[in-house]
This record gives sequence, structure tokens and C-alpha cells, in this order.
Amino acid sequence: MSEHLLSVRNIETYYGPVMAIRGVSFDVEKGAIVTLLGANGAGKTTILKTVSGVMDPQKGSVEFEGRAIHGINPDAAVRLGISHVPEGREVFPFMTVQENLAIGSYVRNDRLEVQEDLRLVYDYFPSLRKREGQPAAGLSGGEQQMLAIGRAMMARPKLMLLDEPSLGLSPRLMKEIFTIIRRINQEQGTTILLVEQNANTALATADFGYVLEMGRIVLGGRSDELREQDDVKEFYLGVKGDAVRGTRRWKRRKTWR
Ligand code: ATP
Repeated sequence: MSEHLLSVRNIETYYGPVMAIRGVSFDVEKGAIVTLLGANGAGKTTILKTVSGVMDPQKGSVEFEGRAIHGINPDAAVRLGISHVPEGREVFPFMTVQENLAIGSYVRNDRLEVQEDLRLVYDYFPSLRKREGQPAAGLSGGEQQMLAIGRAMMARPKLMLLDEPSLGLSPRLMKEIFTIIRRINQEQGTTILLVEQNANTALATADFGYVLEMGRIVLGGRSDELREQDDVKEFYLGVKGDAVRGTRRWKRRKTWR
């Protein structure tokens, strides 16, 4: 039987009076890669923020390893094993690569293992090792993304939340980053919740996917099955053209559990 690392139930999350998430429920199986798809403004980032404690849901629950965690602060979420790689990376520009990585391990006091993990991060991202003494501001966009993922790895997360890791990257770098994301999942056993604009890449990487529209999940299932759905093909995979992507109500409202 599958085991859920994360269970989100009927969450409603607001920006002031604006309801961004309108009763969303989904599960993330331990060891899986799960992707959230949807047009701009559908609510993907807000869901990640609600899981990592950056935002509190007004209603509903977030359970991690069977324990209710909604409303906790982001620091407590990191201590429980949830690391958030935000959209735009948000590395500390004037700190060196190594200092940025060290910040990722601030919740830990197992110094020897932290050193081992630093080596591990450099093994995954050799270009970071070469630049370990340089300020993060001087890194390329791809290297900054690697640094943001590496910093999250330094907390030894059970669940990594990745928001748009391919943003602004060349196709070659994007491929490289996604290969490493898959390796981290398989080799480190890290469960991944991925938000990604490039639906082809996201569905090729993930085991499961959920499609969001205007703050609600309208479709969900195994990635290989989602890729065969006409609506997904038409609106997200560009099979029939991108012009009306995400602008129409979904024909089928299937159950996804
Ligand atoms: P994108 O791909 O553009 O980041 P998204 O699917 O991640 O889109 P969210 O960023 O979660 O969407 O936004 C969900 C909704 O909340 C949108 O309607 C957006 O306009 C609104 N929203 C997001 N951030 C804020 C904010 N700081 N203040 C007010 N409304 C916001």
C-alpha cells in the first residue's frame, strides 16, 4: 500500500481578501515526484507556500508524516524535513557559494554529516565546487538554481518543494537540472513536489500530476495517463496549439483519488 508523506485537505489560502486557493486536496506519496501544473496565477506557488509554512491556510489541513503542520512557521517546517526552493532562487548574492550552502544546514548540529552532505552537493553540482569561494551574485542563472537546490539539500529534507526550477534556463541547462532532480529523488530518496511551467518536462519527470485552474484542482493522476488526456495535450503540451492555454473550463472533471 502506498504511504502518503504529505496530505493536503481542502485548503483555502488568501492574499488579504483575495482567495487564491479554493479548497484544494491532494496527496504526495513517499518517494514520489509529484507535479502541479496550471496556467499563470492558477495558485501553484501559493500551494507550495502553504505547505512550507510561508502562508497559513484559512481553512483545511496540511499533514506531513501523519501530523498536522498547517500554520507552523517556515523554520519549523525545515526542521520537520520540508525544504522550499522558491521561484527566482533567492540565493544570498553577497555570500559565497559555500556560505549559501552552509545556511541550508542551519537546522542541523551533526557537523560531520553536514560536511559529508556538502561533498554530496558538490558531487551533484561540480560547477558549484569550482566556485565555492565566489559570491553567488557572480553565478549564472543555472548555477544559481543549482545553488538553491544544493542549499535545500543541505537540510537533508524528506520533502523538497521546487518552484519553477527551469525559469530562464537554456534547454540544455534545463535538461541537466531535471536529470539531477531525478537523481536526487532516486539516489537520496527525497520526495519532490514540483511546480513547473514546462508541462512536457514536468510530466516526463514526475510520477503523478495535478492540474490547477483558478485555485482548484481540476484533474489529477499518473503522469503517463495525464499526458494522454486531450485537455492536457491541448492546453499544456501544445499539441493543438498554445493560444488558448488554460483559458477555458475543463470538459471533464475527473476524480483524482
Ligand atoms: P505563476 O506561474 O504566475 O507564479 P501560480 O500558479 O504560481 O502562477 P500564484 O502565484 O500562486 O499562481 O497566484 C495565485 C493567485 O494569487 C493569482 O490570482 C495571483 O494573482 C494571486 N496572488 C499571488 N501573489 C499575490 C500577492 N502577493 N498579493 C495578492 N495576490 C496574489
